[in-house]
Amino acid sequence: MTVTPEHLTVLASRAEALTAEVLALCDSAPGPAQEPEPEHLAVARQAADSLAGGAEGLRRAAAELVRLQARPCGLSWGVCPEHGNTLSSSGGVSTCRVCRRDWSHDRLGQPCQEPVTWKVIDRAGTETRMCDGHVLGARAVAAGATFVRVPDEGVVRA
Ligand SMILES: [Zn+2]
Ligand SMILES: [Zn+2]
Repeated sequence: MTVTPEHLTVLASRAEALTAEVLALCDSAPGPAQEPEPEHLAVARQAADSLAGGAEGLRRAAAELVRLQARPCGLSWGVCPEHGNTLSSSGGVSTCRVCRRDWSHDRLGQPCQEPVTWKVIDRAGTETRMCDGHVLGARAVAAGATFVRVPDEGVVRA
């Protein structure tokens, strides 16, 4: 079965609902509130905490999957995700000249796999989608282009 962000989100919602049910049950215990709380209720509340943590983890997993499924940038050369066109490749290893991060393959020579985060529209109206790293290089050369953050679509003018 292919795991989708929706599956993870549904499970997270169920964990949240279960958390709320456990807390409601604890609060519904009859009689005057006791200090300290009876052991079984304290343990149940801890369990609710763990369930809440589990729900949070599932939400994070869903977000991570969304990120992974984002369409890759696909420009025909690789970049450093933080510094852009700063890679040099030799002997099958690519290294960023700025941060010295390296990749044990010819990243520079392969299509970019970073997620698309920007839409760049040049003065002629041609639209190109690209990642954070590639947009750095594009900003340097594309005078008059419009940069739009994807997917929140906030417009930044060059
Ligand atoms: Zn770098
Ligand atoms: Zn890219």
